[in-house]
Amino acid sequence: MEFKTIFQILKKYLSDGEDTPTFMRDLISMLTDVSEKDWDTKKDPSNPDRVSDDTLINYSKRGLSAKLARQIMYRTKEEYLIERINECPSGTREAMAKDFSSYDPSVNESNVADKAAGWIIECIRKKAGFVSEDQLSQQRWEQQSSDLKMKYGNYLLAEADNFCPICGRRLIAVRNSQSVPVYEVSLIDKTKDPTPENLLAMCPNCAANYQMDDNPKLQKELEAKKSVLSTHEQSIETLEDLPLEAGITGVVTRIKKLKEKDLAEAALDPKDLTKKIDPTVDIALYISVRTYVTTYFNKINQIMINLDKKNLIDYEEVQDQMKGIYRRLSKAKKSKAEIFNEISRKIQRVTLQEDIYCQIVVSYFIQRCEVF
Ligand SMILES: [Zn+2]
Repeated sequence: MEFKTIFQILKKYLSDGEDTPTFMRDLISMLTDVSEKDWDTKKDPSNPDRVSDDTLINYSKRGLSAKLARQIMYRTKEEYLIERINECPSGTREAMAKDFSSYDPSVNESNVADKAAGWIIECIRKKAGFVSEDQLSQQRWEQQSSDLKMKYGNYLLAEADNFCPICGRRLIAVRNSQSVPVYEVSLIDKTKDPTPENLLAMCPNCAANYQMDDNPKLQKELEAKKSVLSTHEQSIETLEDLPLEAGITGVVTRIKKLKEKDLAEAALDPKDLTKKIDPTVDIALYISVRTYVTTYFNKINQIMINLDKKNLIDYEEVQDQMKGIYRRLSKAKKSKAEIFNEISRKIQRVTLQEDIYCQIVVSYFIQRCEVF
């Protein structure tokens, strides 16, 4: 179905008397979270944050420009449009379905929202140059994704931490108070075999787009993301059986409460830090750790000693655990930045506190030589 046709029918029932440019704006913002100033198309000279009305009228006749379609393709959301149509009284939906029925006889009052949203996304996808495969290869692709889900789905979801690596959308939805995974499994390099190293879990929209997209730049990006995700997953496996005292939570919560005046008088000059982290190699890591150590080291030391006295933490045990975790990661040939991240994430999993405080704890153990 043509974009123009869908647009006219939607406008008739949803626009509430708005003119074409206003409704077009409304429709595009319902379909994507890319804001208007970033639509990257001909702007209104009097208001550069807005697209010119002429451009929008043009879209209503010929569909979105290929440039805009490509730009929003991985950021489209059908939910808002579906919701908006479903909010209409059933009489309105019935009339809308009737207008669409000459294109698809199966459309009715209860499925018109899903169908119309599907059609319009399909138009944008085509405009972006992602040509729909013929039905047979489409079916083959769906079959492949569902086979791969059976085989590797849970692993790939965990590896992706339940987020789509392209658009960042969650891959788990809550429906009728139950959590359901909403994702597809996609090949990264489509010319290679579907081995776990060449697979990613993605949201259905990005998976459908990527399937038809032969942009080598995106493939490169996905390969880089896959490498980070799988390295992290390996590190989690590496550390799986190593315990970490739950008492560390008390340390982190106390660090969170420290005020500027508590820290000002307790500063430390970490002279030897360059022996542990070489600033010429890891400058960002060096600066972060140095700042945390300078500011927090003495205070954390006090906190540890106090908690140990009260038997809330076994300080020696924690030191041993840190050494153990570090040794395991270092043996697995992780870089210093990776080790720093993985230890702070391990602390994060045990304490469920914000990353930044966990990083401060790791920096403390670096200065104490349990790490690096
Ligand atoms: Zn996505």
